[in-house]
Amino acid sequence: MKFGVFLYQPEPVEGVDYNFYRIKPESGTVGKPNPKMYTNIACFGDNALAAKRPEWISMSKDGPALRTNKKYSLRWDVLCMTNPEVREYNLKLIAECAKTTPGISISSQHFAERDFCVCPRCVEQWRQSGLNWVDWRAKTVTDFLKEVREIVKGKPLFVNCLPDPLLGKVRFGYDFEAMAEYADYFVIPMFSKAYPTPWYWETIARGYRSFLKKPVFVNFYVRGPNETWETVAPTRQIMTVATRAARTGIDGIIFLAEKAQYIEEFQKKAVADKEWRKELEGYGGDEVLELFNRWEKMLKA
Ligand SMILES: [Zn+2]
Repeated sequence: MKFGVFLYQPEPVEGVDYNFYRIKPESGTVGKPNPKMYTNIACFGDNALAAKRPEWISMSKDGPALRTNKKYSLRWDVLCMTNPEVREYNLKLIAECAKTTPGISISSQHFAERDFCVCPRCVEQWRQSGLNWVDWRAKTVTDFLKEVREIVKGKPLFVNCLPDPLLGKVRFGYDFEAMAEYADYFVIPMFSKAYPTPWYWETIARGYRSFLKKPVFVNFYVRGPNETWETVAPTRQIMTVATRAARTGIDGIIFLAEKAQYIEEFQKKAVADKEWRKELEGYGGDEVLELFNRWEKMLKA
């Protein structure tokens, strides 16, 4: 198994295989690539562009793809994915980062939800395709991924998919079989401010692992932006959910934090909790326990 971190600031941490820098998270802010870190780009989830160009926001019969639209549970504002300007803007950033950094990770490279997008351009493209609604949307998502693949030549491409292994195609346009042709790795974000019930996360991980044709990573939430240690899961919960997910046969685990310092604090807390490391023995997630052992040696050195 491999391990990584998913950070909002361009400073890497020690003790993991992959450092991802969120150069453009869904807030829409854009940083500078760090050649030492893999680059994550949120494509069509973009609060900044949605505010600047409201005519680019994806549409449904039940209103726009905005966080304020309570018909949907959107965690960010979503732009129409057939908008040529938005596509070009993202592809240009991806190309620039692919040149200077070790690999690319893309997020929100899909439709907002099942009823999106019914803007005149999308409806016209759907009609011309001759496909049914679900298949047209899936083809649109796969075609975008194919374009990304063509510009991320010879470097690893991580594709993030929301944690719905059952209705991913209908809701977001994921054709997992087709996407596996272009993705090197799938990453399933499993973000939560608490993990008191690992059973559900383990179920989602096992479900995805059962059919995805490329290596699968999951991503757990340690401490995102605008959080304190009091507003996020206790370290023991994250240690447990990681150990439990590890036994499902997934290929890697990523930990999200706003910055390196929070991962370093998480590493220290996990290493110091010898009682809980002992408790987690026997679950079948030994590779996570070995990670804690490696962190212990690293912190002593
Ligand atoms: Zn549209």
